[in-house]
Amino acid sequence: MGLTRLLMIIAIVWVVWFIYRRVKQGKHVLKRNKVKKHAISNVKQCSVCGVHVPENEVLESNGRFYCSQKHLKSDV
Ligand SMILES: [Zn+2]
Repeated sequence: MGLTRLLMIIAIVWVVWFIYRRVKQGKHVLKRNKVKKHAISNVKQCSVCGVHVPENEVLESNGRFYCSQKHLKSDV
C-alpha cells in the first residue's frame, strides 16, 4: 500500500511537471512566432539607404519611406 501511494505521487508530480513544461514551451513558441510575424509585416525600406525601418518609426512622403528626416529631405 505504501509503495503504491509513493508511485502514484511520483506519477502525479511527473505529469504535472510535464504539462507545466509543455505549457511553458508552447507559450514561448507562440510569443516568438508573434514577434516574427509582427516584424515582417511592419517593416518599410528607406528609399535612400535601403535600411529596413519599423512602420511605427518610418517617415512617409509621397508614398515613399525614409529612415530619418535627413534622408527624407535629401530625396526630394
Ligand atoms: Zn535612410
